[in-house]
Amino acid sequence: MSEFSMYHAMTPGTPNQNPVRKDEPNKFRPPIAASPSGYQQTGASVATGQTPNQYISPQNQNMAPPQEQSYFPLQPSSGHQPEHDVNNLASQMGAVGLGGDAAAHPRPNKKKNRHAFHTLEPSGSSQAFNGMPQSGTPPSQFLDQNNPGPGWPQPQITPAMNQFPAATPTFSPAAPATQAQYAARLGTPQTGAAAFTQQGKVDPEHIPNIPRSRDIPAKYYLEHVYPTMEHHLPPPALVPFVAFDQGNSSPKFARLTLNNIPASADALAITSLPLGLVLQPLAKLQEGEQPIPVLDFGETGPPRCRRCRAYINPFMTFKSGGNKFICNMCTFPNDVPAEYFAPTDPSGVRVDRLQRPELTLGTVDFMVPKEYWSKEPVGLRWLFLIDVTAEAVNRGFLDGFCEGIISALYGGNDKDESEEGGSTQGRFPPGSKIGIVTFDKDIHYYNLSPNLESAQMLVMTDIEEPFVPLQEGLFVDPQESKSVITSLLTQLPNMFSEFKNPEPALLSTLNSALAALTATGGKIVCSLSALPTWGPGRLFLRDDGNMHNTDAEKKLLTTEHPLYKKCAQKMVESGIGVDFFLAAPSGGYLDIATVGHISATTGGEVFYYPNFHSPRDTLKLSKEIKHTVTRETGYQALMKVRCSNGLQVTAYHGNFYHHTFGADLEFGVIDADKAIGVMFSYDGKLDPKLDAHFQSALLYTTASGQRRVRCNNIVASVSEGAAEAMKFVDQDAVVNIIAKEAAARMTEKSLKEIRGALNEKTVDILAGYRKHFTGNNPPGQLVLPENLKEFSMYILGLVKSRAFKGGKEPTDRRVHDMRMIKAMGPLELSLYLYPRIIAIHCLDEKDGFANENGHLKMPESVRASFSKVEEGGAYLVDNGQTCLLWLHASVSPNLLEDLFGEGRNSLKGLDAFQSTLPVLETHLSAQVRNILQYLESNRGSKALTLQLARQGLDGAEYEFARLLYEDRNNEAQSYVDWLVHVHRHIQLELAGQRKRDDSGDSLASTASTFVGLRTPYWG
Ligand SMILES: [Zn+2]
Repeated sequence: MSEFSMYHAMTPGTPNQNPVRKDEPNKFRPPIAASPSGYQQTGASVATGQTPNQYISPQNQNMAPPQEQSYFPLQPSSGHQPEHDVNNLASQMGAVGLGGDAAAHPRPNKKKNRHAFHTLEPSGSSQAFNGMPQSGTPPSQFLDQNNPGPGWPQPQITPAMNQFPAATPTFSPAAPATQAQYAARLGTPQTGAAAFTQQGKVDPEHIPNIPRSRDIPAKYYLEHVYPTMEHHLPPPALVPFVAFDQGNSSPKFARLTLNNIPASADALAITSLPLGLVLQPLAKLQEGEQPIPVLDFGETGPPRCRRCRAYINPFMTFKSGGNKFICNMCTFPNDVPAEYFAPTDPSGVRVDRLQRPELTLGTVDFMVPKEYWSKEPVGLRWLFLIDVTAEAVNRGFLDGFCEGIISALYGGNDKDESEEGGSTQGRFPPGSKIGIVTFDKDIHYYNLSPNLESAQMLVMTDIEEPFVPLQEGLFVDPQESKSVITSLLTQLPNMFSEFKNPEPALLSTLNSALAALTATGGKIVCSLSALPTWGPGRLFLRDDGNMHNTDAEKKLLTTEHPLYKKCAQKMVESGIGVDFFLAAPSGGYLDIATVGHISATTGGEVFYYPNFHSPRDTLKLSKEIKHTVTRETGYQALMKVRCSNGLQVTAYHGNFYHHTFGADLEFGVIDADKAIGVMFSYDGKLDPKLDAHFQSALLYTTASGQRRVRCNNIVASVSEGAAEAMKFVDQDAVVNIIAKEAAARMTEKSLKEIRGALNEKTVDILAGYRKHFTGNNPPGQLVLPENLKEFSMYILGLVKSRAFKGGKEPTDRRVHDMRMIKAMGPLELSLYLYPRIIAIHCLDEKDGFANENGHLKMPESVRASFSKVEEGGAYLVDNGQTCLLWLHASVSPNLLEDLFGEGRNSLKGLDAFQSTLPVLETHLSAQVRNILQYLESNRGSKALTLQLARQGLDGAEYEFARLLYEDRNNEAQSYVDWLVHVHRHIQLELAGQRKRDDSGDSLASTASTFVGLRTPYWG
């Protein structure tokens, strides 16, 4: 689809099929710690000089098969029996008629695969484009002159791109990706593949494998860029890649569920897939990617379509010698404003196109004039609201929170400045100001003026009618007032250790903060460590733990509290958003449904520490405060999504305020980590000869005080039927849209109904594919769409997530995870639904270090199943929220010493509350720290710290077991059983015998009404 050459007639030769990333200094490199100099293997008494297997005792070493070098002792024969598993699986599969056709689908064996991606060297073409801008191109006149840094000095354009055709050609759906890319992405042939069959036997290795679906493309994209218009099959969301913006937005900002769209609603219905777009408009860029250009069109603002108000973009075409531009959304022919006129060349291309980022790039920022302002934009005001009640003081949360703010503002002792990845992020946004308020039963404001010796406290006791007791000195430049701020934050824990008020007056404090920020808008960062039971808006214990599986449970997942709702709404109106840092030190109830409603409505985020323990969790707290302050943040934002004629927006999912359906989405604040799901339906038929276009426009004020529009343009080809569409499904986008919709329904449907609907949806999609798009496969075979192979596992991960899982789960945790899912971008959600597990006891000597091209060599990740856990093993388990270090009871003492230091050679001798690894001069220590740094740079909004899970010793072991999503747990099936179940229902559907009755109880009727509800996407 979307063939690049159609838009950019190339000079003879081929399109830029396989741009190879050359290794130049600016390229993305995973962060890498230096290899220890004078490396000495501590604790290795055996086999000096050998590395990979030095932890194996000599007798075991002799017995170990040569290809299985590792730290752990040989598996005893009583361990896991693969044969047994296979037979067991085979019998299950046999029961549902799986089998046959072994030859048609040769199983890739592990060794071959290894070989395959080792030979995946920079082979393709050595095209002109290598991911780097060409030098010597003059800066555009629209360059924002005030923008610090390089801005848009060198348009990133290939020579071939200058022949932009005048008429709108269609994308050719041919040759979407090279064989190599398919291989890289999937490791299997291009056609729909049978999941698992082998002469009646089932190979558990052959069911779709999420770790492999990530690892192989990750290697590929270390050496290749992703050109956004050539292949249109974005890399899996978890894979780091450098995008080359060719006019279509990078998948980091926008992912369509279908990059080829069926022409009619009927054709789409066959697939049961949602037509949706996941937008993450302020997403973080990766090193090696061009910063988004900021374009200033002065008083007139950027050119827009008169009819539909779409912004100028690469897909608008010029007619009448350059006097008219045709809108790509609504086809309206607009007059080109005189100041924007440029003649077209004989082929209809504007002669200045190459100097116009807005005509060549899918993502740009427009500066906007006063008519786009609702108030004078100023640098972002940050207001820290700090809970100083007894629980916060006693449990060290206050201490940690204050330290975290100091570290976020001034760096603290943090030596790791690279953790935020992108180079665009400073420590604290320039132009921003901060203010500090503390609260318990009263609200305390602080004058932080730089000319004061120390901060002055003003106590406000009138919590019924809170007001702002000072104007001057409330918001200050954090650098100018550094000494005042630092000394105040350092003293707060002591100051309040004497008062010990147990009850926070939260809502009064929020309303007071609202008053302080109404004039300017801004961001509130609020800590809370007890149920706010004081003053107006006091809350009470709603969840007594006995409402599970009742209708009352739904109510606990939402709030009807009028005062909180009103506060949230007023904040959005004033351009204010709230991030909460909630700690329940004794595991208590905080009514996150009500408190967090403010974050969810204003576009903020909740960081939740359900069992806050100091000092274990203070590092995580500190890193997350720093992240919230330093990530790209916009405020007072409005968002509008436009699409081609024939399509219309039917729903939005995410955390924002939306007062009527046709209106723009409103955000008090929006940051780099937040994503929005947009669903579309047909209001006509699309023309397969034309493309479908989408544009999202986010009007926002930057933290430095500029009013801008972030514009993302997305294009998809259109085809008559759905067969082409199935080839261009973006699995991550589909999962994200379905997860967001499921989360949105938690307040109206029971958990059981939602799980049932997810179940039905999975069968619908896969059965639809089986019925309509696979002709030649034997009827008994489970055939999965090539690009949705891991889909069922991701949905199983969703069903097992804290938001949706069966069984008991505190409502605070459910509602927190539910809102998180609504706001998660594809990368963070992918990790949340299936953790990344890395075995560190059997690392190759070179793992965790730079390869010859300077890229970090990551070990392969492990499937999330206990059957993959090796005796004596040590594993990192990262789901983007927490990172566990699980240690088997019989882990090698030498490994422990190499990781934790001399003398730390038994599990019991380790500190259960440590959250980092010590920096040691051992090979293993450097490897694991490098790997952790890679994981840290490749995740969503939550910080990475370690939590020990020692087998048989730590409570975190339960979390480890819970995260092994391929096993039977979380009151749901194992992956294999789930596939068997799905397969059985697909067969019933094919035979016309499927009842929409999944669990065999009274759910039948609800499920069938549920799937038809409101939107067609569930049915
Ligand atoms: Zn238009």
